[in-house]
Amino acid sequence: MNKSDVLIIGAGAVGCALARELSKYKLSVTVVDKNDDVGGDASKSNSGLFSTSATMPVGTLECKLRTIAHSMMMNICKDLDVPVIECGSIAPILYPEQIETAKALTEKAFLNGVYDYEILPAKDILELEPTLNPNLLGGIYSPRDKQCNQFILVSAFAENAAENGVEFVLDCAVTGMDVKDGKIHAVHTTKGDFQATWVINAAGLYCDEISAMVDECDFKINPRKGEFYVFSHDTPVKVSHIISSVPSPKTRGVLVIPTVDNNMLVGPTADDVEDKTDAKTTASGLASIKDQALNMIPGLHFEDTITQFVGIRPARTPEGYDIRFSEKVPGFIGISGVRSTGLTASVGIAGYVVHGMKEAGLELERKEGWKRTRKGIVRFADATDAEKDALIASNPLYGKIICRCEQVTEAEILQAIHRPVGAKTVDAIKRRVRAGMGRCQGGFCSPMVIEIIARELGIPEEDVRKRGAKAFMLDRD
Ligand SMILES: Cc1cc2nc3c(=O)[nH]c(=O)nc-3n(C[C@H](O)[C@H](O)[C@H](O)COP(=O)(O)OP(=O)(O)OC[C@H]3O[C@@H](n4cnc5c(N)ncnc54)[C@H](O)[C@@H]3O)c2cc1C
Repeated sequence: MNKSDVLIIGAGAVGCALARELSKYKLSVTVVDKNDDVGGDASKSNSGLFSTSATMPVGTLECKLRTIAHSMMMNICKDLDVPVIECGSIAPILYPEQIETAKALTEKAFLNGVYDYEILPAKDILELEPTLNPNLLGGIYSPRDKQCNQFILVSAFAENAAENGVEFVLDCAVTGMDVKDGKIHAVHTTKGDFQATWVINAAGLYCDEISAMVDECDFKINPRKGEFYVFSHDTPVKVSHIISSVPSPKTRGVLVIPTVDNNMLVGPTADDVEDKTDAKTTASGLASIKDQALNMIPGLHFEDTITQFVGIRPARTPEGYDIRFSEKVPGFIGISGVRSTGLTASVGIAGYVVHGMKEAGLELERKEGWKRTRKGIVRFADATDAEKDALIASNPLYGKIICRCEQVTEAEILQAIHRPVGAKTVDAIKRRVRAGMGRCQGGFCSPMVIEIIARELGIPEEDVRKRGAKAFMLDRD
């Protein structure tokens, strides 16, 4: 039986931010996840935005935690070497009826403490973003909205937590709990039983199933699907701000997003679905994104799309964040309803939960030598010629390009595999260093990536997985 002080279920943004926060203290912490990698479900398939709380429902826990987290995030990203672009956002006002909505939104922003969310005239908006529809009537400008690589953020939380002593057990699904007399005696998983004084449910889309295991589920998770287009680097019309539709109560609407990796994202939709695993894009969803995006930016080249993907938001009924310290089962903490804002809010949620644990009696003794910082993998593609020469001189494998589209070298792939909580599958490598993310989507580099994984992990090539337990890259018959 694996025994620890704290067991976190889920290695998404919330679970990994919590693991890092708890790693500051003299506690044994274990994180389990059903997936083969850290990075979560929703956490790896989203827009990657750190947005202010301007449009959040006023006075809610979600608004509070997002506001707190937004102000912390840049320092944390600096400490963890996570790239962020501080691009700001613009919501163009295209119709007269949107003017009143925009005015109401600025009032709401004021109530949420966001004083720099303002309506600008058409001329100013077009100066900031000349690609926008020239017929616009004005726009809402929000200068502190930012974009990050969401996967690097979450894996950086995890790597740093692991360096500070947190244990990650992956490919490990929680299947049930043994609860008697208000106490969790064992957490059953596909990798045996775990025991902990504190069990934290950070299972995202599946948090209802985990809460039901301790009879604490009085809510419903409503999967809300979001489809996206990914554009190639070399598309001729690009934006320098996040462009969003004027938001509605349900969604921020379609966005055109400049990214740290220089691939524009266009999306998402917001459709309630039944199936939590429904990762299929749809013709109607993609067509509606295209219509809305072209209405805002008529020059976009949709023929430069290189792929599409889906993310599922763990929306909740009743709506909103719910962070609950169970009275029935002391030591069980349920986190639910972390829907469209959780990447940003993750570090706020982590601080809030740890403070709650302290109030509930946990002694938090600071660890000596806690490592605040982490260095990311140096990207060959971003280096100057002189830096490239120095990289190759320090490690000749920086001179061996594996992914031609994204200029990813063997040196980067080896680091992705051998770091704490390292990559074990083709998709895990793709997310960490971008091998396979380019125009050919892995057509060229996948065979070499398979070879490298097999060699480094000491397994046959037939056992190399794309992702998950059963998705093998090669025919095993
Ligand atoms: C389309 C879309 C756009 C978004 N845009 C943004 C944005 O721009 N900015 C922002 O801040 N937020 C955004 N979000 C929201 C954000 O992605 C989520 O709020 C956040 O990722 C939730 O993180 P999480 O850790 O709670 O969940 P997840 O990332 O889903 O992680 C939960 C983890 O729990 C694991 N798990 C589940 N069940 C079990 C089990 N039985 N046993 C073991 N492990 C289990 C899963 O495998 C998963 O890894 C967006 C979401 C979507 C879908």
